[in-house]
Amino acid sequence: AAAQARYTIANPESLKAHNDACQDLPGGNTRTVLHSSPFPMTFASGNGCELTSLDGDTYIDFLGEYTAGLYGHSNQTIVEAIGEAMTKGWNLGGPNSYERRLANKVSFRFGLSGIELVRFTNSGTEANTMAIAASIVFTGRKKILVFTNGYHGSTISFPSGIALTTNLPHEFVHAPYNDIIRTKATLDTLPKDSLAAILVEPIQGSGGCIVGTREFLHYLNDSAHKLGAVFIVDEVMTSRLSYHGLSAALGLKPDLVTLGKWVGGGMSFGAFGGRKDKVIMALFDPRTGALSHSGTFNNNIVTMAAGNAALDLYTEEKLKGINDLGDLLKQGMEEVLQRHKIPSPNQTPSKPSEYPSQEPSTSDQSDPGMYVTGQGSMIGVHFSGALQAQLRNLFWHHMLEEGIYLAQRGFIALNLELGEEHVEKFVTAMEKFVGKHKAAL
Ligand code: PLP
Repeated sequence: AAAQARYTIANPESLKAHNDACQDLPGGNTRTVLHSSPFPMTFASGNGCELTSLDGDTYIDFLGEYTAGLYGHSNQTIVEAIGEAMTKGWNLGGPNSYERRLANKVSFRFGLSGIELVRFTNSGTEANTMAIAASIVFTGRKKILVFTNGYHGSTISFPSGIALTTNLPHEFVHAPYNDIIRTKATLDTLPKDSLAAILVEPIQGSGGCIVGTREFLHYLNDSAHKLGAVFIVDEVMTSRLSYHGLSAALGLKPDLVTLGKWVGGGMSFGAFGGRKDKVIMALFDPRTGALSHSGTFNNNIVTMAAGNAALDLYTEEKLKGINDLGDLLKQGMEEVLQRHKIPSPNQTPSKPSEYPSQEPSTSDQSDPGMYVTGQGSMIGVHFSGALQAQLRNLFWHHMLEEGIYLAQRGFIALNLELGEEHVEKFVTAMEKFVGKHKAAL
């Protein structure tokens, strides 16, 4: 309560903006995930790795727009690429050269993960929607295997394994992530020839940066192919972790891969693609295919031009640099926990962190503790025990007071503008928190 009171006093303009916005928007914004307690911070601008709030305070951005903000704020190369494209018009009503060039770059980059033919969308949600539809039509089957705490977009997410009422009406079947035995048991219950697809994130991003084991992911890949189902890997977030995509790095052979976030240079973006020999993508060929996929903004010039410029910026060297920085941050955080002898159970979060309860959790019987998950430039901070919701909120407020912005639910995605000095600042701020609240951890 004291931290929330300090936050309210320190951010009168954000509070005012929130109250004003509530007049026209339920809850004051259009993205549930952006709500934080007691009210979200509104930003006036971003520059490099810094954000400036409406109240004029500057924060180091460790959220990176949930991985879409890979390049930092107002990257000059992307600004210029969009500016130049804009001088030639943008609602042209036909295919454009940016679209073709971006498709070529995407298939060059992610061909080894299975994207040889690609279609663009406006979001990761749409990309997954189309991948599911393609699987159903391709196989003539209906069931889609998904995983507890999986997140594939605002209409395809599975907190605690339940399909939300806002979800698409598909025959989703749920299994626990990283659990081969129970996934096999689930698959064994399905009627013969009923499974259209297995849809999985190689790392559950919104579910808390939970890294899928190689064994589990290969088990899914093999099972899908044995059962004649389509193996869809959702790389909307994870494609930033490896130059040719995480699927290629893990030796997976997906039939369809979905992309989003950073690949469009930080503009509204999604894509799905597959191999040429698999003929699934041919379903979208308007000359011969069975599936229509229209969308006014699928090839919008802002995104296409931004993506073209942006992909060239994310070289193998930059990718290694940002992953190394993430490893440094994770290691620094784990050392803090070890120094203070904080129990760090290497466990899956007991609550899906996409939907953090702002209320005290009295039902959680796990032991108190704090731990870190993730890989490379994607990291999750977690708390366990009965006080986990309060500690998570307290941590968020503490880090803000230290000039660091991350998601209230503990999600961190690095951007290319961050350096070791920022990581050091993060670790120092976290150490202060841990020292102060040791008794509760
Ligand atoms: N898939 C994954 C793994 C995601 O993390 C997200 C977004 O967070 C999506 C799909 C949906 O992407 P979008 O928000 O662009 O619809």
